[in-house]
Amino acid sequence: MTSPDRPVHPPVTDGLGAVDRPTVSFELFPPRNPDAAPRLWATVQELAAARPDFVSVTYGASGSTRTTTRALVRRLLRETSLTPIAHLTCVGTSREDMTRTVEEFLDEGVRSFLALRGDPPADESWRPHPEGLPTAGALVALLREIEQRRCATSAAQAVRAATRPMSVAVAAFPRGNAGSGSTREQDVAALLAKQEAGADFAITQVFYDVDDYCELVALARDAGVTVPIVPGIIPMTDPARLRRVQQLTGVPVPARVLDRLDAYDPDDPADVARRHRAGTRLGVDLVNAVLDGGAPGVHLYTFNTHGPALDLLAGAGLGGDAPRAHSRVTAPSLTPVPTT
Ligand code: FAD
Repeated sequence: MTSPDRPVHPPVTDGLGAVDRPTVSFELFPPRNPDAAPRLWATVQELAAARPDFVSVTYGASGSTRTTTRALVRRLLRETSLTPIAHLTCVGTSREDMTRTVEEFLDEGVRSFLALRGDPPADESWRPHPEGLPTAGALVALLREIEQRRCATSAAQAVRAATRPMSVAVAAFPRGNAGSGSTREQDVAALLAKQEAGADFAITQVFYDVDDYCELVALARDAGVTVPIVPGIIPMTDPARLRRVQQLTGVPVPARVLDRLDAYDPDDPADVARRHRAGTRLGVDLVNAVLDGGAPGVHLYTFNTHGPALDLLAGAGLGGDAPRAHSRVTAPSLTPVPTT
């Protein structure tokens, strides 16, 4: 499948049934130092204008950002109307420690998590924790267990859980996970295990070709995965960032993308602006293509910068102020409207 050679869809609405808007969400990471915090908060406020369905906050492997992730999630909860999803990684952590961390988040009112294994350090002497959780699936099961225990021991918690159910997202990999050396088929088996443990939906690793996403979804459905799979998309405006992400994730950036972006002079501000527009166009094409392919929405990797993400959404007709151009009317409202 290739991306459609046309601008955004016209809005689909008959004024009757529910309009099925695609979801929009963002990934943020906690500020790396105190100086970065005000800048990040300004970015949060800009991103909020797009009315995202949720904002996810990363968590360093082995809990390295436990404090700063918690602080950002807490601030999002207390000072904005956004729904934060706290990432959690379990690699290298004992079950007991993970239980404590989950309890802390729940005590603060966090109801949404992205359960991940995380990557073990490259250090050859590293060994998994003897009482740790080996996979993200085990973490999903632990989250469900903790919530069940809290509800069983406190009627107040049970009422809160009934009104604001806990949601658990997990990761999915359109091209397999180079970081852990697994193929797409192995990761689909892992995704099925995560669903069976209680995952509600999945967010994908970055990818650049719509076929990668559609093939993953097809394989997952064949394997029995029924949860929604939200495509994770990176704005393609900065070739240096794309190269860094390739190093981190092992997901190759296609030559067609790099050739396009590298054609501009990075030292010429006018050329950088032209490159931004060209990269935004690439992103818009990918967003249009995944939504045409049936994606429930898009999750944007922002790298704590709002401009490229918001321009991408605006280009795809998914901006906060514009009606979402990809809106689909849900099936019942497709019934012809009686004219008498
Ligand atoms: P798992 O699902 O546990 O998979 C890990 C390995 O075990 C894979 O090879 C898988 O095939 C195998 N496996 C798992 N379960 C089974 C099973 N039942 N049977 C057979 N094999 C199995 N990293 C961070 O450190 N912090 C973050 O905040 C973070 N956020 C991320 C957000 C998204 C959307 C994505 C896609 C990745 C993120 N990562 C993050 C990276 C992620 O932690 C790594 O890619 C890690 O290698 C895999 O994590 P996982 O949750 O998919 O692990």
